[in-house]
Amino acid sequence: MNGKARHPASGPASVMTDLPPRRRVFTNRNLRMGSIEAVGFDMDHTLAVYNTDNFNQLSFVMAIDALIRDKGYPVDIRSMAWEPEAAIRGLVVDKKLGNLLKIDAYNHVTRARHGRKFLDREVRRSRYPMGGIRLGTTRYRVFDTLFDLPEGCLYAGMVDLMAKSPGALDVDFHTLYDDIRAAVDTLHADGSLKARITADLDSYFLKDTDLVPTLDKYRKAGKKLFLLTNSEVAYTAAVMDHLVGGPSGSWEDLFDLVVCFSRKPGFFVARGDGEPVVAGSCPQMPNRKGHCYVGGDSFFLEKKIGSSGDQILYFGDHTYGDILRSKKSVGWRTAMIVPEVEQEVAAMRPLRDDWQALAALEDRLEDLIMERDHLSVVAGGSADRMGELDKLVSDALGRRARLQRNLRSAFNPHWESLFREGRAASRLGRQIMEFACIYTSRVSNFLSYPADKFFARPVEVLPHERWALPDT
Ligand code: IMP
Ligand code: MG
Repeated sequence: MNGKARHPASGPASVMTDLPPRRRVFTNRNLRMGSIEAVGFDMDHTLAVYNTDNFNQLSFVMAIDALIRDKGYPVDIRSMAWEPEAAIRGLVVDKKLGNLLKIDAYNHVTRARHGRKFLDREVRRSRYPMGGIRLGTTRYRVFDTLFDLPEGCLYAGMVDLMAKSPGALDVDFHTLYDDIRAAVDTLHADGSLKARITADLDSYFLKDTDLVPTLDKYRKAGKKLFLLTNSEVAYTAAVMDHLVGGPSGSWEDLFDLVVCFSRKPGFFVARGDGEPVVAGSCPQMPNRKGHCYVGGDSFFLEKKIGSSGDQILYFGDHTYGDILRSKKSVGWRTAMIVPEVEQEVAAMRPLRDDWQALAALEDRLEDLIMERDHLSVVAGGSADRMGELDKLVSDALGRRARLQRNLRSAFNPHWESLFREGRAASRLGRQIMEFACIYTSRVSNFLSYPADKFFARPVEVLPHERWALPDT
């Protein structure tokens, strides 16, 4: 039957490049690099690629120590195992009910995990009725960065302990999460975590030999480059020295402007309390070259770099702090670094036939069910055909379940794909489509593209157009 086509444009962006699909740049909104005057980079999880498993495990263990030491949690929590796959980006913590949630683009809860157990559909629906949850209240917290994932593992582990041994922890779910958040926040801010990282940089970062050539390529093409990071001066210097190599401090020469300890997202929204908008100030960094500053705001940065709004492209990893705010508040163009794209594309590629078979099967099921429904209300409908249809539907459902199982096995065993939930985009997937002009797994992927490339978005196919397009 039914002529619904898989349009080529709905697949990966078609780019003339030798890069494997997992390393390509994907386009949501047309971006003419020739019109970009200044290119800015976040550091952590953008220029600096962490060995996420090593880093997150360290953060997990140090947070447990802090909870025991500072908050009086029982020493037994040390036996809790690090589970790298416990959480993915985009999950939401429900502090009231002690759950980790995956939500779709309309904030409907599609999966809920309490401790190590997933709520079945009926229970989930009774806890989270239709209409979607209201994020932005103190009840919920969203994991917007890879730095958040240890909290997911800690929370699930502790809630599990509370479920299995009532009374083991003398806290409610809300306080438990707030304690975990405060412990992780302190680790980042008081220097203890960073002291461990800088003492063993090789274990916590993945070096990318294409990084410096990528930055050089943009400089040679006449773009101004800047670094804009929330990290402190000393940490930034240690990490950049390690990644770039060469004499200490030579990384500063890669940029026309460096801003550390920038306090994004506030950096993009600071406006001087109803005062006329003026360029903010930004103290120079002690012991660094003249173009290195701390703090400030986007007015200062735009004035200093001499470009503004859509003349600037900013690379970042944080959905809210880097991408959504820089786009919405100051109108910069955005390139989101999503390392997870690499694993997901690599896992999906061998399953391409299954994806297509599933889409065709969904269409066929729709037709079979429609015919069966029709026959059931028509007087004198053929009993033979009805029996035949029942069998065809049941075979198709069985086949669909097998295909779905196979496809699911490619992703996180608990949460599946970061970007989608079944046939629809997850909230994170939708945010990436909405706020990232382009996205890719790492900065150095841009080395394979011309510096002035026009990144063109793929043709968008509306549901009714699928019927008119040829099968591919
Ligand atoms: P950026 O991604 O380069 O802007 O910098 C991220 C910085 O934020 C790093 O220095 C992290 O240590 C820091 N960071 C991440 N999570 C937290 C937190 O929960 N509290 C305080 N600092 C954090
Ligand atoms: Mg970052």
